[in-house]
Amino acid sequence: MGLEEKIPDGIILATAEKVVNWARKRSTWPFGFGLACCAIEMMSSFGPKYDLSRFGMEVMRASPRQADLMIVAGRVSNKMAPVLKRLYDQMPNPKWVISMGACASCGGIFNNYAILQGVDKIVPVDIYVPGCPPRPEQLIDGIVKLQKLIDQEKLKGDSRQSA
Ligand code: SF4
Repeated sequence: MGLEEKIPDGIILATAEKVVNWARKRSTWPFGFGLACCAIEMMSSFGPKYDLSRFGMEVMRASPRQADLMIVAGRVSNKMAPVLKRLYDQMPNPKWVISMGACASCGGIFNNYAILQGVDKIVPVDIYVPGCPPRPEQLIDGIVKLQKLIDQEKLKGDSRQSA
């Protein structure tokens, strides 16, 4: 007789890590942080057609203290960079960053003195979504990939937990 057959109905076996990661990936709250044209595509991801609430993340927060996902949607000017960094620092751990679009990831077509050539120069990026602009489907694909990353995170020894 296998172990599963000995356990009475209604009992679920899991590790704390699996339960915590399952909860985190299903309730990631994004911080509203649209910077340029990519933000329009991000906003439409939250609308009825694409319905991001299917992923447990329709609650876009206005405060970094209530958010654990920063979607950098659009180009980051050098003037905005310290503000973005401060807002990221104010988000509680664990937290994740999606770089949405060519401008956020590498400056895009704006290879000039005013634009930061990649948001990963100031904050750690977990997922890069390519495109100019990426369609909502691409952002959702990036979100699904982020959920897979969250699923593999370790509770112990994870630098995100202790940072
Ligand atoms: S990647 Fe394209 S759509 Fe997005 S902010 Fe840059 S120019 Fe605008």
